[in-house]
Amino acid sequence: MAKALKGSITIGFKQPELLVSIQEKPIIRYKGPQKRLLEEKKYDVVSSPDQNWFPHNIPCRVNCPIGTDARSYSLAISEGKNQLAYLLARQNNPFVSTLGKVCSAPCEPDCTRGKIDAPVTIRALKGFAVEKNKLSTREVYEWLNMKKLGVDLPKGNRLPSIAIVGAGPAGLSAAHDLALTGYKVKVFEASSKPGGMLNAIPRYKLDDETIKRDVDGILFLGVEIETNRVCGKDFTIDELLGQYGAVLLAVGLQKAKRPNIQGIELKGVIHGIDFLRRAASGEKVELGKNVVVLGGGNVALDAARAALRIGGKNTKVSVVCIEVAKGKKRYSHEDEMPAEASEISEGGKEGVVFRTSLMPEEILGEHGKVKGLKVRPVSTVYDRDGRFNPVCKGKAQVLEADTVIFGLGQELDTSFTRGKKDLELGKEGLLKVDPQTLMTSKKGVFSCGDMVRSGYAVDAIASGQKAAQAIHKHLGGTGSLGLNGPQKIEPAHHHEKHDVWATRCSIWYGLPPRLSVKQRRGNMALIEGSYSNFEAKRQGQRCIDCSVSPMISPYNPCVICGSCEDACPAECIHLKLMNKADFNGLHKEVDGADGDGPWVSLIIDDTECIHCGACAEACWEDSIYMVKYKEVCG
Ligand SMILES: Cc1cc2nc3c(=O)[nH]c(=O)nc-3n(C[C@H](O)[C@H](O)[C@H](O)COP(=O)(O)OP(=O)(O)OC[C@H]3O[C@@H](n4cnc5c(N)ncnc54)[C@H](O)[C@@H]3O)c2cc1C
Ligand code: SF4
Ligand code: SF4
Repeated sequence: MAKALKGSITIGFKQPELLVSIQEKPIIRYKGPQKRLLEEKKYDVVSSPDQNWFPHNIPCRVNCPIGTDARSYSLAISEGKNQLAYLLARQNNPFVSTLGKVCSAPCEPDCTRGKIDAPVTIRALKGFAVEKNKLSTREVYEWLNMKKLGVDLPKGNRLPSIAIVGAGPAGLSAAHDLALTGYKVKVFEASSKPGGMLNAIPRYKLDDETIKRDVDGILFLGVEIETNRVCGKDFTIDELLGQYGAVLLAVGLQKAKRPNIQGIELKGVIHGIDFLRRAASGEKVELGKNVVVLGGGNVALDAARAALRIGGKNTKVSVVCIEVAKGKKRYSHEDEMPAEASEISEGGKEGVVFRTSLMPEEILGEHGKVKGLKVRPVSTVYDRDGRFNPVCKGKAQVLEADTVIFGLGQELDTSFTRGKKDLELGKEGLLKVDPQTLMTSKKGVFSCGDMVRSGYAVDAIASGQKAAQAIHKHLGGTGSLGLNGPQKIEPAHHHEKHDVWATRCSIWYGLPPRLSVKQRRGNMALIEGSYSNFEAKRQGQRCIDCSVSPMISPYNPCVICGSCEDACPAECIHLKLMNKADFNGLHKEVDGADGDGPWVSLIIDDTECIHCGACAEACWEDSIYMVKYKEVCG
């Protein structure tokens, strides 16, 4: 059966009449007798760009929750235009400096360059662009304002004010978009400084100065923050609703999960987030010689790696978890440690010892202080129906411990409701919101970030931006906030690019310089440095520019020679015979077709295309050529 192709472009024709249809890209159709076409070249070309093609066929952009134009900033760096690269990375992202260092980079795994060797280092290039920015905050906003899309504010003399609870990435991103549009925004933050969980990320990954740069950029817009103000204690949601046009809750997940074991009250037991916050603030936490971290996720790994640095030479740090080690899964019902592979491998290199498939049973103490941890081997974590149901087998053993850190993740602390039940909870104890409007079960109260859907910083930022947009609409405004709105596309020019492509492909993947394991010992210095100008340029050149794509020419009819099919290294271009019934010029039906003529279809699967231009180069008739699409502000 023919493979169903997504995002394909097609050309189909039958003698003597010729008909070409290109879908998903700007549509160009022509129809006329073959003779007339060849001899007189008199035919109509109808062009109507498909606005969906561009944003949906650049994988880095599709996979970024905030739609970052990584392609454009990588290419700007490749041309040495570092200032432009910064602005392109900054335009939709108020936390650009932070994400340049710690973004989970969901854009990278599907980057087209990864089909050739390894993805473009999109996150690290962003970090480089941030380092190179020389513009003041004011100048950056002037540039952003110039690019701003048409936004109509709600009618009336005074814009309503908006209250935001929580100054983490979600709340502050919403504040940024609303303030940029002209709303008066006030943020209430429980702790003494803004930044939320960014303040718990170990300082060897993210420094204070970087967070401050982003937060200051948001405050520059006139966003007011009141710190040490706790919702549910110092004020209530109802009080805010009485004074503000809308309320946005963005309090994240602050309550550390606790295992249900004995010994939690002993001195030397610390919650992962408390430990990480204290460590990040530079506090010297007493850990003793043996530290055991419970949990197999990223928080546990952060805590273990931070403990190694704080503890000094003689401190041993073990991670104890019930899951099997990464890559050791034997059966489908087993579960691997959920931490990222890179975290586990870096932790291992630094000296973290992994004790996997162990169930903690009791924290043992002496004179009120932690002395050890009793554990028992785990044979399975999930049962055959996929339910969490760990089974222990074998003898218990005791691990020496002076400190036990819980790195089991966080959950929603509902104390901000002050016991009122008018905000509904949803899955996994998170706050329930309408997925489209992010409004909670209480009218005028919105919510975003980890408290609605737990994820990474970039997800929280995306969620904050969505909430800002929803609040704007709720208050009667129209248009798209921020700079992430729809852009129009147009074909820019023909592009001979096979040679350029080959040159780009010869450049190796390379990360910025990093501290050696020895250099990391006993200090919290940032592990990752920045690219040199030379290396950044090279890494930017690794982007093969997915906006350059093969296009089927309306001027030079295909002669069905099959050269393109032979030349395509990605094997994503196919000539197919079809029955008449299958072909009506719509690509969906062409995709599924697998007949025996008399119609012929040329199909290019955009999802597999590596934009190399080999098809265009191989085509004798110039029926296929490469075109670069560019975005223009709408
Ligand atoms: C240890 C750790 C490491 C992480 N590392 C990374 C990483 O490397 N990369 C990455 O992308 N993501 C990382 N994350 C995830 C990322 O930090 C979060 O997804 C993100 O911070 C969530 O943003 P938020 O605004 O929803 O919540 P938060 O960042 O938690 O912010 C919520 C804010 O609300 C405040 N608040 C809470 N209750 C109240 C109240 N009642 N009244 C007033 N204010 C209140 C809090 O003090 C806090 O400032 C990490 C998370 C943790 C815990
Ligand atoms: S090759 Fe370039 S444009 Fe294509 S996905 Fe990767 S970064 Fe984006
Ligand atoms: S030859 Fe290259 S550009 Fe043409 S369809 Fe195949 S991968 Fe895409």
